[in-house]
Amino acid sequence: MKLALITLFPDVIENFKAYGVTGRAVAENKIDLQSFNPRDYATDKHRTVDDRPYGGGPGMVMRCEPLIAAVQAARDWMKDEALVVYLSPQGKRLVQARTEELAVEEQNLILIAGRYEGIDQRAIDNLVDEEISIGDYVLSGGELPALVLIDAILRHVPGVLGHAESAGQDSFSEEALEGGLDWPHYTRPEVFEGQTVPKVLLSGDHKLIEKWRSQQATAKTRKMRPDLILNRKN
Ligand code: SAM
Repeated sequence: MKLALITLFPDVIENFKAYGVTGRAVAENKIDLQSFNPRDYATDKHRTVDDRPYGGGPGMVMRCEPLIAAVQAARDWMKDEALVVYLSPQGKRLVQARTEELAVEEQNLILIAGRYEGIDQRAIDNLVDEEISIGDYVLSGGELPALVLIDAILRHVPGVLGHAESAGQDSFSEEALEGGLDWPHYTRPEVFEGQTVPKVLLSGDHKLIEKWRSQQATAKTRKMRPDLILNRKN
């Protein structure tokens, strides 16, 4: 799976490549992750990547030409089909199901991280297959959203999580939780400042433990995210 990130700040990505789920996926050659800086593809003397908005107003807008050239460089590097995603607060809100789909399809991705007021609409019109938002709030750049998307996808790529971990038991998993939230977790010590671990977890009775976890997960989902229960297919 090849992932290219179009960013004015490639260091963010380079640093991230060594850590956690992404670090493991890179080390085990599950993914090839490369950044492309539009500034390297700007053709004017000052390597300009942004300019003032037509119509006036505050802020700057990322110009089309360097973005289009950077995406072309990413395509040349990939030598394969890729879905072009613009991380944007105006995109469709990211949900677990979409991250699973992208992982299963082992979709090559070209992720565009915007800055300033965003990117010229013509770059969106010409390049972008899908706009994805990580939530209804505005960040200063698309680098963190791109890393969020990559991390969430990689959790579903077989072999990326360690043996002890499983995305199938995470919150929103259809498999274990019917799309609801995870159950509470406890580890040692058995008593912490007078608070004990629920007895059932010490019982060794796996059927009972499973039932308790399921009840706890449902109660937490009902309390924190009733919308997830309402959205269940049946
Ligand atoms: N003017 C834009 C708007 O109001 O829709 C916001 C631009 S934002 C300051 C700069 C960049 O950050 C965007 O181009 C996008 O790439 C990224 N960004 C900000 N918030 C985001 C979010 N919630 N999800 C995904 N990307 C986001």
